[in-house]
Amino acid sequence: MSGAAGRPKISAASIRGASPRILPAAAGRHVVLLVLDSLRWDSLCAAAPVHLPRLGPIERRWSYATWTAPAHYNLLMGILPHKAPPGVHGVAWHGAELRAWGERLGLDALAVLSLGPALYLPSALRERFGYRTQAFVSLPSLNPAVPLAVGFDHYVQMPQHNDLGAILDILELPRHQPSFTLINTGEAHYPYLLPGDPPDDAPRLAGVHGVFGRVAAGAPVPVAEAPAFFSPARLDALRQRQVRAAAALDALLPRLWAKMPDDSHLIVTSDHGELFGEGGYFGHGPVPHEKVLEVPFVEGRVGPHLRG
Ligand SMILES: [Zn+2]
Repeated sequence: MSGAAGRPKISAASIRGASPRILPAAAGRHVVLLVLDSLRWDSLCAAAPVHLPRLGPIERRWSYATWTAPAHYNLLMGILPHKAPPGVHGVAWHGAELRAWGERLGLDALAVLSLGPALYLPSALRERFGYRTQAFVSLPSLNPAVPLAVGFDHYVQMPQHNDLGAILDILELPRHQPSFTLINTGEAHYPYLLPGDPPDDAPRLAGVHGVFGRVAAGAPVPVAEAPAFFSPARLDALRQRQVRAAAALDALLPRLWAKMPDDSHLIVTSDHGELFGEGGYFGHGPVPHEKVLEVPFVEGRVGPHLRG
């Protein structure tokens, strides 16, 4: 099911936009930040991606957080997954990271360093640099009502948690204005299903299956309802499904850069990793394990070299 015809419609309540504003003189480069939710660095490597390495080397980096909401807050502050450099003060790393945004955006680095009092990239780009800012998100914890959904001209929650193809159907970058676009997609999030996959027998778990929705409705998930922990065979099968999801996401990349003008900048990363039994853990969140912080990171310019 890859066409738009069979997909659920996006409701008006799932779209949020900021108030109109008078744009300052706009300059700068388009930037797309693509977050492949929950994708482990080694799952991506095991998928042997064909397209992604053409954008840039697949780096092994480290997220600042172990689950979706705080990890995205950090990303939107402009603080991307780090390299865990030894012997370097954190403040020096953060300074270098913010200076790198000047290069990514094609803006004066010192100007970008001053994100304004909100210390928030979408707000600064929109208000100070004339960017159009937009987000297409898939996980419920990023819905348009959450506090991190600010500073965007256009903020859309997709009806499916796992359909990058549907996002690419509607994604548009403006022709006469620089833009910043956040895309969050959940094919690599539990239960690691692709659009069109038949329903499977994976137990319902928090996150995609709506633990926060039940809490908001006054019906939190009782501990007794939690499924039994997965067997080693089941964990291995789930890991293989995440690898398959990574390959499917890689196959969609040419559709993404077909929508990005030449010299746009693309960042592909994950918000956190995933545990498949290491240390006795599954998933992410309350998991103090390095595999839940280990994420892939790739960035580069989009141009004819990718489209050939
Ligand atoms: Zn996540």
